[in-house]
Amino acid sequence: MFSDLTERLHIREQQGLKRHRAVTEGPQSTHVVIDGRAYLSFCSNDYLGLANHPELIQAACQGAQHYGVGAGASHLINGHSVAHHTLERALAKFIGFPAALLFSTGYMANMGVITALAGRNDVIFADKLNHASLNEAALLSRAKLIRYPHCDTVALERRLAASGSGGKLVITDAVFSMDGDIAPIRALIRLCEQYDAMLLLDDAHGFGVLGGKGRGTLFSPAAETRHSPRVIYMATLGKAAGVFGAFVAAADEVIETLIQTAKSYIYTTASPPLLAHTLLKSLERIENDDWRREKLHGLIELLKAKLQPLKWRLMPSDTPIQPLVIGEAREAVHVSNALKEKGILVPAIRQPTVPRGTARLRISLSAAHEEADILRLADALHEIAAGDDVYG
Ligand SMILES: *Cc1c(COP(=O)(O)O)cnc(C)c1O
Repeated sequence: MFSDLTERLHIREQQGLKRHRAVTEGPQSTHVVIDGRAYLSFCSNDYLGLANHPELIQAACQGAQHYGVGAGASHLINGHSVAHHTLERALAKFIGFPAALLFSTGYMANMGVITALAGRNDVIFADKLNHASLNEAALLSRAKLIRYPHCDTVALERRLAASGSGGKLVITDAVFSMDGDIAPIRALIRLCEQYDAMLLLDDAHGFGVLGGKGRGTLFSPAAETRHSPRVIYMATLGKAAGVFGAFVAAADEVIETLIQTAKSYIYTTASPPLLAHTLLKSLERIENDDWRREKLHGLIELLKAKLQPLKWRLMPSDTPIQPLVIGEAREAVHVSNALKEKGILVPAIRQPTVPRGTARLRISLSAAHEEADILRLADALHEIAAGDDVYG
């Protein structure tokens, strides 16, 4: 087995698919230092610029003083602090759901929900471009997994209609993490009602960013939907919220079922209460700082305008995820490296994360960026596109 590992790592390296971690110094920011060199970064999911906000840092320090640093036990033993409890209520109220439940991470939330609700006799319908955590959870649940073409509600309806007895669960990213587009939520809810299915919406990239007051994709014009008891809403707290963790909001019966049976909730230490304490402050900033979302949308529009003349196309997206399609993996990596030489970080995303031939630069924008940052990125891309030696 061990020699196998060595060989497989070697093959990965040869195919140019071996991944490396950049070691950053200092806080998450639009300007990062790696190996002693300063970069302008378009890599982060810190969409509102809250990860290093002074008020949140202060809340974290206060939280540590008040609650210590570790929860010490799982939620069902005695790790469920008043900070967790208060945050759950605040989150449920904020998005108008009956109840909410905190998980340590979004990955664990998806694992917990899907394995608690679906089992051997059930069917899960999943968008082909869903996040890896949704796919893994579906496999772990042992339910029958049926994937449908990206955002294709006609194809989904055919699959729903053809499926026999057993519970039905539709799972989808609300904002797709590598494309930046938004799921057809209204149609999905309608189908779930028509075919007696539940809908798990993973809003990792919409919460805090989209919808009035940052309430998420369910409140955006793209969804414009009222709540249905069939909707199970999951959002993460380590992206726009700037801290760490995730929550699930749903009908009381769903939340109670998760408390009783979701293994990634039950068999794990509760996250440090100081994080929940900090997240209450983050929620205040999300709710009150409309200017962060307005600034972010201004930057998105500026980027689109400036990249319009490029030979590469931005994918249609109104979210801070702005993928620039390059095509071949080799060329995408070349452009990403050329940007890096100019002091700008934008990750190249290749297969298997995205389909072959659609390798792209995943530009992610933050309210912490300035117009000058966007202009610098646009200029650099124009220069690289103009160079005749694209392959260096
Ligand atoms: C980041 C992400 C997750 C995982 O959330 P973590 O809190 O980072 O574990 C789940 N789903 C989607 C769509 C994501 O982008």
